[in-house]
Amino acid sequence: MLLGDEFKTMKTKIVTIDSNNFKPDELKEAAEILRKGGLVAFPTETVYGLGADGQNPDASGKIYAAKGRPSDNPLIVHIADLKALKELTAICPEKGRQLAEAFWPGPLTLIFNKSSKVPYSTTGGLNTVAIRMPAHPIAYELIRSSGVYVAAPSANVSGRPSPTKAAHVIEDLNGIIDMIIDGGKADIGLESTIVDVTTEVPAILRPGYITAEMIEQIIGKVEYDKAVLTRVQDFNIKPKAPGMKYKHYAPKGDLTIYEGNSKSVVRAINKIAEEKLLTGYKVGIIGTDETVSYYHKGIVKTIGTRKDESTIAGSLFEILREFDSEGADYIYTESFENKQLGQAIMNRLLKAAGYHIEKV
Ligand code: AMP
Ligand code: MG
Repeated sequence: MLLGDEFKTMKTKIVTIDSNNFKPDELKEAAEILRKGGLVAFPTETVYGLGADGQNPDASGKIYAAKGRPSDNPLIVHIADLKALKELTAICPEKGRQLAEAFWPGPLTLIFNKSSKVPYSTTGGLNTVAIRMPAHPIAYELIRSSGVYVAAPSANVSGRPSPTKAAHVIEDLNGIIDMIIDGGKADIGLESTIVDVTTEVPAILRPGYITAEMIEQIIGKVEYDKAVLTRVQDFNIKPKAPGMKYKHYAPKGDLTIYEGNSKSVVRAINKIAEEKLLTGYKVGIIGTDETVSYYHKGIVKTIGTRKDESTIAGSLFEILREFDSEGADYIYTESFENKQLGQAIMNRLLKAAGYHIEKV
């Protein structure tokens, strides 16, 4: 739920910083806010994060309040120095160390058994802790210069599509947090891959830009948590990443995914769009560069090109937000091949659609 304006009583400072060309001084105030227990939203290479001092329970408590996040959904702790791993984990398994060395800084989160230095308020009561070292220059420098371990989930109100631009953060959190750093568009646009390295065979808890193939090249066999591949509600599966059990990324409109060969999908979407329009509903269609000219009804948008799936990942959440502001009642989208980056895209789309998929 978005908070009503009457609750947005704080003065949020919004600063613009050039990601490719800034002086560390420009992050001084943001770092100070983090040290003092406040909240700062900042760009990362995945999505925008909402940061607080992860070792200060009052500060991380403010994250839960600002986002309306369930208290059992743990936060990812962001670091800027590999030495932090030793301090924050009870043990660092060899495969965890290898993955950290291969992909950090970068869009990979690792789950370890936590040390006593990580409060339960940050881990949602779990004995494990999620850790990531981001590559985005602003995120990295902010964490480094603040000197704190920055607990940071995505900077959206719980349940809304993750923010890939400062404008999305402003939409959700202006008046509720201390500062928003506008550093331009988040490159990847999907949240980090999460890998649990506490088990003998590590498991992917959330797919992302770093794929299973890339991980297996470093450490050999990796498994998937059941909740990644199966609809959680169906089998009472308890996902290892608590966040994966919540309805997520949902636009306000009713989203349906169409799967099949390209021609059949276009035909089916045009047909359903026409029916809904005739009954007076506002309809949104998500096509690709390859198909967009074949859709004739409703508000039609292209999500990117199938020739480069990173373009699709990069605009998925933004498109869902756009349809929200345009008031679409029904949204129809094409589906994507469930492998490599497509797997992360389909994982987010399926959740956004409440697993509503039509095979044509
Ligand atoms: P967000 O940063 O909003 O994308 O959410 C962080 C994700 O990391 C959520 O799905 C959490 O459930 C997951 N997560 C954080 N800490 C842990 C942990 N210790 N064990 C498993 N999953 C975690
Ligand atoms: Mg999130």
